[in-house]
Amino acid sequence: MDTILVVNAGSSSLKFEVFAIADGLKKLLRGQMEGIGTAPRLHIKGSDGQVLAENAHAPNDVPDLITAMRFVGAWLREHHEGRLVAVGHRVVHGGPDYDRPILLDEAVLTDLERLVPLAPLHQPNNLAPIRAVLERRPDLPQIACFDTSFHRGHSLVASHYAIPEHFFEEGVRRYGFHGLSYEYVAGKLHDVAPGIANGRVIVAHLGSGASMCALLGGKSIESTLGFTALDGLPMGTRCGQIDPGVILYLLQQLGMAPKEVENLLYKDSGLKGLSGVSNDVRALLASDDPRAAFALEHFVHRIGLNAGMLAAALGGLDAFVFTAGIGENSPVLRARIAAKLEWLGAKIDPARNAAGELDISTPDSKVRLYVVPTDEELMIARHTLALLN
Ligand code: ADP
Repeated sequence: MDTILVVNAGSSSLKFEVFAIADGLKKLLRGQMEGIGTAPRLHIKGSDGQVLAENAHAPNDVPDLITAMRFVGAWLREHHEGRLVAVGHRVVHGGPDYDRPILLDEAVLTDLERLVPLAPLHQPNNLAPIRAVLERRPDLPQIACFDTSFHRGHSLVASHYAIPEHFFEEGVRRYGFHGLSYEYVAGKLHDVAPGIANGRVIVAHLGSGASMCALLGGKSIESTLGFTALDGLPMGTRCGQIDPGVILYLLQQLGMAPKEVENLLYKDSGLKGLSGVSNDVRALLASDDPRAAFALEHFVHRIGLNAGMLAAALGGLDAFVFTAGIGENSPVLRARIAAKLEWLGAKIDPARNAAGELDISTPDSKVRLYVVPTDEELMIARHTLALLN
């Protein structure tokens, strides 16, 4: 049995899935090495949910992503019968040039390393396992799939900031992210609601990272995310859209160091910063602290405002799609967000919403409301298989 390994490497965790290539792709297992460098734990589950591994490791044994990748490789060699034929990687930034997945070699990897300044918190983590595999198994095809590629068709107008042009040439552009999720959802919508998929659609990817994308005829034309993953909607711990004057104030008037500002905006803002309670929507919904309720109110408010902006980009709206952790699992927030879309003609059906059905709108709703679970890993596996073939 030939298999594909999909790797999604973050700052303190390495998530992975294995797919069998048999009549398309079949998910065999998914796992995660979390707490890298602090309290490493490897969890692996089979496709039917059974626990295949649950191991704690000493911090010194798994100090970084490269050793985490070695642990995962060793576990797969020992316990997994498949023959690994390729590795697909999630890479946050493809810069201005990579508008599709690409087979990795030394030259491409060096090129992607040049993009580190555009995503200093994510790109190095995404690339470290690629280099580790390239050094140990140069024969094994590795494919990079970018979070930016799906948005590369945006118009020049949509891609610019109103600053002197040379910055655009140097790479200061509105890129947009979560592209693998949007690509998956756009494809799924094409299968389940082809009439709608060719129309004007907003997809809301609401997870610990959150953004929205405007799809016209299945193609991305606008996104709430721009140069970095900080823009647009407030997220679990990230601020979302903020007046750049606030950053100047923090630096110049409060004398904060750039690193402190970075930590504030990436790690201590968003739902966590506003509520002072948690970054997790489940905890905020369960809390009776008024600040938790306020943080959720702000989140819903900003989603409503951004939906108006994307509907303007689309010249109207045929459907609004909820996806990712919050979008897929929280009927309460879906209902509150749908209420912000009533002026556009959206009407939610409470029973269908509570049941998490695919179409949660009433029959007379002018804007269809959908819940479409995303699957970024499957999207990466598909791209990897397509490039292999
Ligand atoms: P990521 O992959 O970016 O880590 P997810 O898409 O898994 O994020 O989303 C994680 C978030 O989804 C959690 O922080 C939590 O707030 C939210 N979430 C998950 N399940 C529920 C639920 N039943 N109700 C409300 N929110 C939920």
